[in-house]
Amino acid sequence: MLKGKTALVTGSTSGIGLGIAIELAKQGANIVMNGFGDHEGPKKEVEALGVKVEYHGADMSKPAEIEAMMKFAAEKFGGVDILVNNAGIQYVAPIQDFPTERWDAIIAINLSSAFHTTRLAIPHMKQKNWGRIINIASVHGLVASKEKSAYVAAKHGIVGLTKVAALELATSGVTANAICPGWVLTPLVQKQIDDRAAKEGITVDQATKELLGEKEPSLQFTTPEQLGGLAVFFCSPAADNVRGQAWAHDGGWTAQ
Ligand code: NAD
Repeated sequence: MLKGKTALVTGSTSGIGLGIAIELAKQGANIVMNGFGDHEGPKKEVEALGVKVEYHGADMSKPAEIEAMMKFAAEKFGGVDILVNNAGIQYVAPIQDFPTERWDAIIAINLSSAFHTTRLAIPHMKQKNWGRIINIASVHGLVASKEKSAYVAAKHGIVGLTKVAALELATSGVTANAICPGWVLTPLVQKQIDDRAAKEGITVDQATKELLGEKEPSLQFTTPEQLGGLAVFFCSPAADNVRGQAWAHDGGWTAQ
């Protein structure tokens, strides 16, 4: 379905971003990967699906590096047709103890980066009269949890940005939507489970059960593969007129 299209997925060396890159590649899209840590392994995994893959190591907190990455994508593939803003970090502390540099980093990586990639991707998408902007928000773009001030602010912000982009592009073939996952067992969440186990003196297994039981009625993690499937749906003709939605995939978290 996506043969001849190019998808750029930020933060795709791990977790949800990698899962989405794989599902888009299965549909034939060429992929521009981004993110920290080992990128050779994830790149090979996506290449094995028979598509062209390039990697750019832009730090998503730095607008100049984001601009270089978008130029790189245009040079390699002619432009970005599917933009998945996924890179993100977490930090947990009460507001009065929240380190200001962590606040700035979370707002830059989880929110402002999506503004920069979006503003740079829109001209090519409009010119082709086809494009997909898919923002990986969170249930925390819809509801709050304590001790996640920067994350919740950034995720509510990206839901707002998604709606504005959808409205500005509404008469074109370019759509913008957000995906709002509940718990997904990635390194970002594993750290929260490990911290909880250490703090409460319980096993990792018990901490996992507590974490799910507190918020997610299905008591199941959403998987990167399922989120990739939802991204593929947003890219399909069936979703041509799905615009500005913040689509929860959360085991019932926000239904409560
Ligand atoms: P992860 O830690 O597995 O992956 C994060 C990715 O972002 C990695 O590739 C990392 O290298 C990259 N990254 C981090 N900082 C970066 C920077 N400055 N520049 C470029 N890349 C950077 O985490 P994940 O759980 O897969 O999270 C992906 C997205 O999904 C995040 O936006 C997160 O907020 C969101 N999300 C996660 C969950 C969950 O339960 N795991 C739930 C809802 C939303």
